[in-house]
Amino acid sequence: MSGILYGKPVADSLREGLRCRIARCREAGIEPVLATVRAGDDPGGLSYERSIRRACDALGITVLMQLLPADCTTEELAACLSALSADSEVHGILLLRPLPAGVDEQTASEAIAPAKDVDGVTSQSLRRVFTGYGPGHCPCTPEAVLTMLDFYGIGSAGKRVTVVGRSLIVGKPLTLLLTGRDATVTLCHRRTQDLPALCREADILIVAAGSAGLIGPEHVREGQTVIDVGTSPDAQGRLSGDVRFDEVLPLVRAVSPVPGGVGAVTSAVLLEHTVSSAERSLPDL
Ligand code: NAD
Repeated sequence: MSGILYGKPVADSLREGLRCRIARCREAGIEPVLATVRAGDDPGGLSYERSIRRACDALGITVLMQLLPADCTTEELAACLSALSADSEVHGILLLRPLPAGVDEQTASEAIAPAKDVDGVTSQSLRRVFTGYGPGHCPCTPEAVLTMLDFYGIGSAGKRVTVVGRSLIVGKPLTLLLTGRDATVTLCHRRTQDLPALCREADILIVAAGSAGLIGPEHVREGQTVIDVGTSPDAQGRLSGDVRFDEVLPLVRAVSPVPGGVGAVTSAVLLEHTVSSAERSLPDL
């Protein structure tokens, strides 16, 4: 049986769970605040900022928007992030990407206090991925993938999982998190030999390559679950996943669509991280 793993019900359920947690913060006099920091006017950054703002408004999370000029330096951006890190009214900080050319993203990101790093971009947050503890947060997208698997009752313990893409924000942390859940994980990248065979041998195939339509019928088999993280423009300029959805859907057990899959869950996870940071200020936690 083929199924579609939509992101919306997963995100709705996550957001629903946040309502009473936000109310509890409010009762204790804590107003959850997410600061967004954007340097310049890149359309991708602007559109993510708008969608996060809408999602926060709907839940009652206050958004503090900070804007820096497109010609700002790494030091200026880091100073802004440090000031927000020191502000006790701010619980989460989201640095919008892409950053202007000339800004060193990792140096600037490290100015975010780990406890407020709701996007999981600092080295302290990656330490949490490795060790399972520490003040940071896991990067949102890998956590969104795990949340989707949980929501749809797809266990990973003892399963073979293939992850395509080894970036620091998706593929690598996902590999570690799945290993922590007792999966046996194969991590693939551009120089991997015989990608179709490694994809086919997986019980769960997760693709985060940013290559529209990379995965087709030759990469999948009956009974597989396929999660598509990729979002890039196809030849016609439309937002597309890494998986050729229409060709793969009839062949596998289930596959997530793009758009309408992991993306919606990723932003709900960001809100969850913000609320969980605010909860750290609750007296009895
Ligand atoms: P990245 O460019 O940093 O990394 C891509 C990885 O994929 C690299 O490790 C590369 O080796 C591998 N890769 C690329 N082409 C390949 C190929 N042909 N065969 C095998 N491996 C290949 O990208 P990223 O930041 O990890 O993002 C990956 C995709 O996920 C992008 O499309 C991005 O837009 C999307 N994304 C989606 C969400 C979401 O919430 N839905 C969040 C983050 C990223």
